[in-house]
Amino acid sequence: MEVELKEVLNELESLKQSIADPSHRAPIDKLKLRVERLAYLGNYGPIRRSKVKDMSAEVVDSNPYSRLMALQRMGIVKNYESIREFSVAIVGIGGVGSVAAEMLTRCGIGRLLLYDYDKVELANMNRLFFRPEQVGMTKTDAAVQTLSDINPDVVLESYTMNITTVQGFDTFMSSLKNKSFRPNKEGSGVDLVLSCVDNYEARMAVNQACNELNQTWMESGVSEDAVSGHIQLLIPGETACFACAPPLVVASGVDERTLKREGVCAASLPTTMGYNSLKDFFPTMEMKPNTQCSNVACLERQKEFLHVKPARDAAARAKMEAEASSETESPLHLDNEWNISVVDESELDKVDVKSSDAPLPEGLIRELPSADEYQTLPAETPVSHVDDLEDLRKQLEALNSA
Ligand SMILES: [Zn+2]
Repeated sequence: MEVELKEVLNELESLKQSIADPSHRAPIDKLKLRVERLAYLGNYGPIRRSKVKDMSAEVVDSNPYSRLMALQRMGIVKNYESIREFSVAIVGIGGVGSVAAEMLTRCGIGRLLLYDYDKVELANMNRLFFRPEQVGMTKTDAAVQTLSDINPDVVLESYTMNITTVQGFDTFMSSLKNKSFRPNKEGSGVDLVLSCVDNYEARMAVNQACNELNQTWMESGVSEDAVSGHIQLLIPGETACFACAPPLVVASGVDERTLKREGVCAASLPTTMGYNSLKDFFPTMEMKPNTQCSNVACLERQKEFLHVKPARDAAARAKMEAEASSETESPLHLDNEWNISVVDESELDKVDVKSSDAPLPEGLIRELPSADEYQTLPAETPVSHVDDLEDLRKQLEALNSA
């Protein structure tokens, strides 16, 4: 590419020389500058930052974590850096999954496992994340490329496969079970699974895996017209699993493929109860697991949960009581680096009244009457309510007789 750009520069130069009138050569010079800029960009490519060993709270423009570590200073999180110990699996790198992956990457999550069988197409450019030069790449590889540029500290794993096939499901299960990232972790090898898929079959596969592994996961869906969607938190045994309350369209025995219509994103759930962006309505509900769920692993988790629930409730109660008794009335922040002062509301009122009475400097007049003038209005003359009622009664009678 460098050679070609040099040739273009030479051609531009000879074109410039061929123009007799020097005052007409300026546009050629402008073009030459643009070609030189392209050559420069081609030489250096995208600039990648180096890995950061420990997250620093230093407030400098060059620290990629300074804004995030501020959450710790503000008391919102206790230890922000512990985010590096967490693994999240994202199934489906589409409109929802890619954005979730990018946000977690920017937050500095420890490890992301990305699953998708699809390739990037130009038709995907309506959404955030993928770029035209990634067309033809698998979605998971393209995602790893983009995400590792944004934050090289995140451990990224790309799984280009279909989790609904027998082989795909096995790989999905073993990748979730793999604990090499954090060998002493309890349960599976990941902390959370995000289902960002576009079909019922894949949701059921995620449900099956998470029920078997006792893995907490979140399900998401967007409606065909893209104006509503839902999010569901699923804790095996504790809340309803995806099979406990299947969507109506599937329960009635309709083949999913017949629901896909020409020209519409095939994906999306035909009906979705949840957030409606047109009405800005976000209903929430809790769903207990179905004791007659068709998923055997779900029933096993339900039994386990009933077994541990009394002890868990007692521990939660004891913790709440301990916290309540240790709470003392002390200032929340001892230092005051922002110079924030707390003013008594009643004092604020007094100041206002005073200022509205105060004479204004010469040349200024009050456009609105001061609040006090309303209080000095003569008291309303008492109205005879009896007369009003009498009138009303007469009007009603007239209506009834008509
Ligand atoms: Zn269930």
